[in-house]
Amino acid sequence: MLGARELELVCPHCVSALGRVRYRLFPAQLVITSPHGAEIEGVRAGQMLLFYPEWTTDPDPALVSSQEIAAHRRLMRRLEQNMLELVFDLRCPVHGSLFCTSPALSRAIRATSPDQRHLPVPAL
Ligand SMILES: [Zn+2]
Repeated sequence: MLGARELELVCPHCVSALGRVRYRLFPAQLVITSPHGAEIEGVRAGQMLLFYPEWTTDPDPALVSSQEIAAHRRLMRRLEQNMLELVFDLRCPVHGSLFCTSPALSRAIRATSPDQRHLPVPAL
């Protein structure tokens, strides 16, 4: 087994524990589990846009702030740029959904030092 690692995933904003990631370069493996041990499945970004068509339109400006609309547009752009990638929805109790792609997670894991135990979730 090459490049096997297991790290605790933490929120990049508040360092809440979001789960664990088990990674192996060869044979390839990327398994994410919630803090309770349930496996978190990745969903293709293109499927997310199909399942949630309301995401592709801007929210009502009377109900959400301009910063939230800008954040929504950034998320839509990143999902469209990563249509074929697996996206994981990790839930922070404070900051809500944090989306990250499988390749971004793999890159972040490979960039960690061998003694590192925590990994801030890389942005989508
Ligand atoms: Zn957080």
